[in-house]
Amino acid sequence: MNFENLVIISNFDLPTIVSSGDAGGYSNFVFIHSEELGNAPWDKEMRTFYDLIVIGAGSIGVPVAMEFAKKGQSVLVIDSLPSPGQGQDKKAIGGIRATHSDKGKIVVSQRSIEIFSQWKEDYGDDIHWKSNGYSFPAYTQKDEDILRDLMKIQQHFGLNIQWLSPEEYRELNPGINMEGLRGSTYSPEDGSASPLLFTQSSYFRAMEYGAKFKFKETVVGFHIKNNKISSVRTNRGNYSSAHVLNAAGSNAKEVSQMAGIDIPVKPDSHEAGICEPVKPFMGPMVVDMRKEASSINFYFYQISEGQVVFCMTPDPPIWGTDNRATSLFLPMIARRMIKIMPMLANLKVRRTWRGQYPMTPDGFPIVGKMKELDNFYQAVGMCGQGFMLGPGMAEVIYRLITENYRSDDLEISKSFDPYRDFKDQEIFK
Ligand SMILES: Cc1cc2nc3c(=O)[nH]c(=O)nc-3n(C[C@H](O)[C@H](O)[C@H](O)COP(=O)(O)OP(=O)(O)OC[C@H]3O[C@@H](n4cnc5c(N)ncnc54)[C@H](O)[C@@H]3O)c2cc1C
Repeated sequence: MNFENLVIISNFDLPTIVSSGDAGGYSNFVFIHSEELGNAPWDKEMRTFYDLIVIGAGSIGVPVAMEFAKKGQSVLVIDSLPSPGQGQDKKAIGGIRATHSDKGKIVVSQRSIEIFSQWKEDYGDDIHWKSNGYSFPAYTQKDEDILRDLMKIQQHFGLNIQWLSPEEYRELNPGINMEGLRGSTYSPEDGSASPLLFTQSSYFRAMEYGAKFKFKETVVGFHIKNNKISSVRTNRGNYSSAHVLNAAGSNAKEVSQMAGIDIPVKPDSHEAGICEPVKPFMGPMVVDMRKEASSINFYFYQISEGQVVFCMTPDPPIWGTDNRATSLFLPMIARRMIKIMPMLANLKVRRTWRGQYPMTPDGFPIVGKMKELDNFYQAVGMCGQGFMLGPGMAEVIYRLITENYRSDDLEISKSFDPYRDFKDQEIFK
């Protein structure tokens, strides 16, 4: 066999080009990192102009790339990190619900649930979809009233959600603390999936449809001409496109400021954790809305592989991008989890981690076209729901950018309007 002209194209984090003699003795091997493919002289599909450039290969950017490429549009995704989903996407615990408090999020998540639940059939990859449902148990009259009022809105939009008595709820989540329990909502069609598996699968499908990705490349500015972004400037080069989408998650504000536009997105730190796997014993996700000292709500569920995963909303919020896990989180959430489900005391925790919700002042995403620049769009501020909103939101974004609106798109988008006053508050941020 003659290795003379052998070229290895690798997804691993190897040096961009390994010079002759560096590759384990195979003197004529050339390694090229996937990020370089678009620049390779033999890449016949290299483009200088794209229909869309997406900044950020995360929970939103990857499904958007897939949607555009699937519909035959040329799309380039740029991300500072070495592979897809390495921002906040991989920090998510995989909860997927349509039980929100406004039309926009409900309708988008309903579509996401259709996509997640059919993913294996449609694309062949197992993303660990589990239709475990969500539940919001109520221990106070106030919480019961809020949940029952919300159910009316949710049912109005066609959500399958019902109120269970304490005894009915115990059937689903045995071991739940019955003391003071007034009942619970139960939405069986909500569920969960693996953010890692889903984003990897969408990434590979996006590439099959023709999307291009550039990793380890950071957007540092824009060239603006005639009220338009004429090119996106990175630390490695310039790229041009008809449209530019900011999907930069926790960095969305900085990226938007590069175009001279301020948007209210702040990184809001949350911690999460995972236990060792055990036999299935839990039904739906439990969301405890009660506020206690140093924390607001917390939520946990058992994933399809048996581990219980959990997450908490700190009070007051912890702003910033410090990713170091704290010693306060685990004792605090463990105490709360054992209080609501005492049998959890037997579980062993494997690890905890910290990440950020890209938070807006009202808890609703910011999605839409910027008035200041003709071809600049935002898909940012996904708060604690970017993973669950991702695939449904990608379809909405496709229709907004290509102006192929469906009849209710403009109404759905109202909740995400970048120019709203941010005074209303999403109840379940
Ligand atoms: C502990 C925790 C638990 C969570 N649990 C859930 C859950 O159960 N369900 C759920 O739906 N959501 C959950 N979330 C929220 C979810 O993770 C986020 O809402 C979602 O990841 C945001 O998606 P995004 O695409 O906006 O950002 P990201 O996924 O973070 O992607 C943004 C990307 O942009 C890139 N980028 C930024 N700036 C630049 C630049 N200048 N140039 C190039 N690239 C750039 C980043 O590297 C990153 O990869 C959780 C979050 C945390 C922290």
